[in-house]
Amino acid sequence: MTVSMVETRAAFIDQFGRSKRKLRISVTDRCNFKCVYCMPEHPEWMKKHQILSFEALFQFCQFMVQNGIEYIRITGGEPLMRQGVVHFVAELQKLKKIGLKQISMTSNGHYLKKYAQDLKRAGLDSINVSLDSLDAIQFFQLTQKQLAPVLEGIQAALAVGLPLKINSVLIQGQNHEQIIPLVQWAKDLAIPLRFIEFMPLDGDRHWNAEHVVSEQQILDTLASKFNVQAIQEQSRSPARQYWVDGHQIGIISTITHAFCGECDRLRLTAQGEFYNCLFATQGQALKTEIEQLQTKQNASLLKQKLESYIWNKKAGFHAIQAQQTYRKISMHMIGG
Ligand code: SAM
Ligand code: SF4
Repeated sequence: MTVSMVETRAAFIDQFGRSKRKLRISVTDRCNFKCVYCMPEHPEWMKKHQILSFEALFQFCQFMVQNGIEYIRITGGEPLMRQGVVHFVAELQKLKKIGLKQISMTSNGHYLKKYAQDLKRAGLDSINVSLDSLDAIQFFQLTQKQLAPVLEGIQAALAVGLPLKINSVLIQGQNHEQIIPLVQWAKDLAIPLRFIEFMPLDGDRHWNAEHVVSEQQILDTLASKFNVQAIQEQSRSPARQYWVDGHQIGIISTITHAFCGECDRLRLTAQGEFYNCLFATQGQALKTEIEQLQTKQNASLLKQKLESYIWNKKAGFHAIQAQQTYRKISMHMIGG
């Protein structure tokens, strides 16, 4: 049966026994937002010829699904800024025959009103929209863009039945007071919401531990207004799940409760750099290998390269932080 064939497909595995089932593909480093926790003040965009074509990306996705990947997330930069991304989603559907289970996207939502219907038709399974404030002035301060198009995009996705989640990054002293308004809003619209602890991946390296709103601080704030209960049965998602007045809220607490112990993710940047961890100090430049994947011999060479790099994946965030190694790549390139 197809199902059992899919279950037994060998996956890449690291030295800690964590098999890799999820792949994040950044399709562009460009973005129309300038989120304070992400984009450097003076980003140097990749040139068009430095970016992998959708044909090459598709071949790579196919190769990765053949090697155990079951979930593909399309990210950026802002993925909806790259022309052809809807067609790419439609093309990826072909991989569901060989074991791909889900195609999702992470977006800032600015262009979602325009694309929601097309993405739904192309078979996108779900979309995560980043929304850090419901206050239009504060939203502008955080992103340098208007709030209204994002809210319209969210409404458009709901209207066409595109499953949607909200991601909110909290920064102490900037939008920490948005915890209750965001939860109330998400509850009213019945949309799952996840808070993300601010991670040291901002482009200009202004991150400081004091800027982090911790999972405990979030829970304490929620408890002042709602009934909060931890959900015992946790999913394999990095977010710890809670019932908040009966509505499900997740918290991705990479800093205070790193979720690295079961990490099943791999990442590819738009220019073909492969990362075995969001915090890895060194990626593998694979653009040429990915562009030449057509022959069996090249696929086998790439597999060997990846096996060894993935095997050497470090234990996780805290192990890498302890080395205090500088790395050039920031969140807008690796895609979250
Ligand atoms: N542009 C899209 C968006 O904003 O959703 C996709 C790319 S963005 C890099 C992916 C996710 O990373 C977003 O949810 C964003 O909030 C999150 N992110 C960016 N920088 C972060 C940081 N320093 N700490 C925690 N999350 C961050
Ligand atoms: Fe752009 Fe997303 Fe980074 Fe904000 S978080 S600057 S929307 S890539």
